[in-house]
Amino acid sequence: MRRGAVRQTVAVVGGGCSGVLVARELLRCSDDRVVLIEPGEPGGGVAYGSAKPWHVLNSRAGAMSAAADDPGHFARWAGAAPAEFRPRAEYGRYLRAVLDEAVTAHPGRLQLRQGRAERIGAAGEVVLEGGGSVRADHVVLATGGPAPVRQRLDHPNVIDDPWRAGVLEALPQDRPVLLVGTGLTAVDAALTLTADGRRSAPVVAVSRRGLLPLTHTAEAAPPHAPALDDCATLRDVVRAVRSAVGESGDWRAVVDGMRPSLDRLWTAFTADEQDAFLRHLSRTWECHRHRMAPEIAARVVELRSSGLLEIRRGGVAAWPGLADYAAVVNCAGPGKLPGSAGPLVRSLLDSGQAQVGPHDLGLAIDPAGRVIAADGRVRERLWLIGPLRRGTQWETTAVPEIRAQAHRLAGDLRPGPVLAEVA
Ligand SMILES: Cc1cc2nc3c(=O)[nH]c(=O)nc-3n(C[C@H](O)[C@H](O)[C@H](O)COP(=O)(O)OP(=O)(O)OC[C@H]3O[C@@H](n4cnc5c(N)ncnc54)[C@H](O)[C@@H]3O)c2cc1C
Repeated sequence: MRRGAVRQTVAVVGGGCSGVLVARELLRCSDDRVVLIEPGEPGGGVAYGSAKPWHVLNSRAGAMSAAADDPGHFARWAGAAPAEFRPRAEYGRYLRAVLDEAVTAHPGRLQLRQGRAERIGAAGEVVLEGGGSVRADHVVLATGGPAPVRQRLDHPNVIDDPWRAGVLEALPQDRPVLLVGTGLTAVDAALTLTADGRRSAPVVAVSRRGLLPLTHTAEAAPPHAPALDDCATLRDVVRAVRSAVGESGDWRAVVDGMRPSLDRLWTAFTADEQDAFLRHLSRTWECHRHRMAPEIAARVVELRSSGLLEIRRGGVAAWPGLADYAAVVNCAGPGKLPGSAGPLVRSLLDSGQAQVGPHDLGLAIDPAGRVIAADGRVRERLWLIGPLRRGTQWETTAVPEIRAQAHRLAGDLRPGPVLAEVA
């Protein structure tokens, strides 16, 4: 064992993809005790917990391994070809399986605590909603990204959480439904609203620019990295990307080839360049980067040509005939902090234990992922993993980046005095 006799307790708050991957790494790479705090079933989270059979991964099986040192692990587990796009619910089962496997290999080291963390107390303990607390040497926040921007619309049925079980299926099929957003969440919602083939009224998805995600090809071209070494500015990067697309003939290969360099590029930009990227390029980038599986894209084409799905451009606030829609479904992307913070993150911000990070996209962290308090000091024992790192990092929502964060984080946790056992 890396740390000899010293045993510390690490509380991981949130058992979605990030929480499971970090708990697994801690079990495998340390002799820490791990308390995983999660109100639902581990391995679910927004992406995999409420996925329906028609929701498939946006990444190929070959990219989804839980283990950075064994890229084929998920594909083998699922009995899939690496190029396949597998069901998201299956991926949730995979996450539970890899956690179970790590627990079996390291018995007695993981405690699952069903509950929701309310705040982090003065002594670093995790206080749970409804009473009880978990005392730990380190706390890892793995509670997912900010909530979507809230829609304040004059409509009696605004659905803020399109993932809530049964909420879309309950809508009348003969009245149109308005989706706010035209990204992957809107596509997911459109698939659910039309899944049983009985819908007669259209689903209308609207966003400022009306851009749908682009599509993967059936087979991936090998990544083609642009020549980025001499790029000093955002403008240089755009030029290098255009030139690489010309050479390769496939923009997907260039987007994939850039992936390992994205965080380095993001942190090398000035704050103004980051801001310019967010204002002018990020939506286009997201459409190219987060692509639909070919079978999903084919279904979208089918729905559009049958008139059941309309993609429109515009602002939703003054949308004509709003009252005619059975519901308005919030499929907008993540909002900003502090407004879109969940209760735990809000309490960290309110108490000065954390501060909002660059561009209000996540929490401020140091390069290792430790949270920075309002007074600018690094919280040595409070760590962050996953989507709330955005701002300091750019690529921080997908599995390859999360598993790399989990691996590094498990290595970076240093032993300290054990405060107490789980209360
Ligand atoms: C629809 C969708 C599809 C995706 N598809 C892909 C894909 O194909 N490939 C890919 O690489 N990535 C994909 N992703 C991205 C990626 O896997 C997610 O970003 C990832 O799931 C983030 O995981 P997370 O655990 O950080 O957050 P979440 O999934 O949001 O999980 C957070 C967990 O924390 C728990 N929690 C929240 N608050 C508390 C609290 N106070 N106390 C205790 N627990 C709490 C929640 O119950 C939840 O289980 C997808 C994401 C989405 C949304």
